[in-house]
Amino acid sequence: MSGAEEAGGGGPAAGPAGSVPAGVGVGVGAGPGAVAGQAAVAALGEAAGPGIPDEAGLAGARQLQLQEAAGDPDAPPKKRLRAAEAAEAAAAAAAAGSGKLEERLYSVLCCTVCLDLPKASVYQCTNGHLMCAGCFIHLLADARLKEEQATCPNCRCEISKSLCCRNLAVEKAVSELPSECGFCLRQFPRSLLERHQKEECQDRVTQCKYKRIGCPWHGPFHELTVHEAACAHPTKTGSELMEILDGMDQSHRKEMQLYNSIFSLLSFEKIGYTEVQFRPYRTDDFITRLYYETPRFTVLNQTWVLKARVNDSERNPNLSCKRTLSFQLLLKSKVTAPLECSFLLLKGPYDDVRISPVIYHFVFTNESNETDYVPLPIIDSVECNKLLAAKNINLRLFLFQIQK
Ligand SMILES: [Zn+2]
Ligand SMILES: [Zn+2]
Ligand SMILES: [Zn+2]
Ligand SMILES: [Zn+2]
Repeated sequence: MSGAEEAGGGGPAAGPAGSVPAGVGVGVGAGPGAVAGQAAVAALGEAAGPGIPDEAGLAGARQLQLQEAAGDPDAPPKKRLRAAEAAEAAAAAAAAGSGKLEERLYSVLCCTVCLDLPKASVYQCTNGHLMCAGCFIHLLADARLKEEQATCPNCRCEISKSLCCRNLAVEKAVSELPSECGFCLRQFPRSLLERHQKEECQDRVTQCKYKRIGCPWHGPFHELTVHEAACAHPTKTGSELMEILDGMDQSHRKEMQLYNSIFSLLSFEKIGYTEVQFRPYRTDDFITRLYYETPRFTVLNQTWVLKARVNDSERNPNLSCKRTLSFQLLLKSKVTAPLECSFLLLKGPYDDVRISPVIYHFVFTNESNETDYVPLPIIDSVECNKLLAAKNINLRLFLFQIQK
């Protein structure tokens, strides 16, 4: 249970509170009719559950605890005994109650799935359980793969994009919480951290300004000036530099080739494009698998269909963190002569999918009318999960007919 771990791992803050004799245990539990154990459980539940105590509530708890530490004459001795029995839970509760406000808020505002503080959007189920955007999308994608209704991992209520809403208050609260810079380990409000790590941190990783002529050096920003003053690259001879520049030109040329070939395809006589919508469907195989297929569409006066599959139909794509999509193009109409085409899938006008362009070629005939499955060049697994979580996948297909 996350709350317990977080609370138990309260670190230095747990020290002084834990060292206050039984009084604290009783104190936390001394609310009317509550024994320490119950209170501890309640405190933990609060930390991990939907009930988000406001700051006033937390301050109140602290106030109460201070009073108790001073000694509560009304506390019956029986409670003191029970408190000793529940020592462990009480210690955890004490830690939870006495840590710094930020530390307590971490466990209240964290994603209930990955237990991390959400970096961007926060979603909640209808019962208020928080999920970071990444986990939320992952749950929806997993459910799609397993052909199940996605549910909240905490309360099993149904979750979907329409059932869950964002929680702006939590998003804003999280952005105000301090967070550690990964380079210099100093604390900053989350909202300022990105700028600090990018532009201000003296320890951020930087590259030598002579990188363009081949210097591989990278190191902390505060060493940059010293390195650049001593860097050997500016004193290299012309012929040494020529070699380095050649290598760089080559990789640049490869990139340009792609764009040049797209531009030359665009000057073909017969080109066509259309918006395509991949819709999920399942086969009746022994193990059902998720496939996607578009309705038939017409481009270049021919009828086509696109199909897509997840992780090339491996047995249990839901067990893998790595997600890929591949697709094939099928010609559905008859042709009188072989039809040689280049084709390209790109982001459509209505969906925000990051796809890097790759051009594929195929010669369609009546006998060979479907391409192999080729990778759908999505940037990464996160983008892929976004697609799986969506109801349909909307893309734009370009077809270029190659005429000899
Ligand atoms: Zn998460
Ligand atoms: Zn829930
Ligand atoms: Zn820093
Ligand atoms: Zn250098």
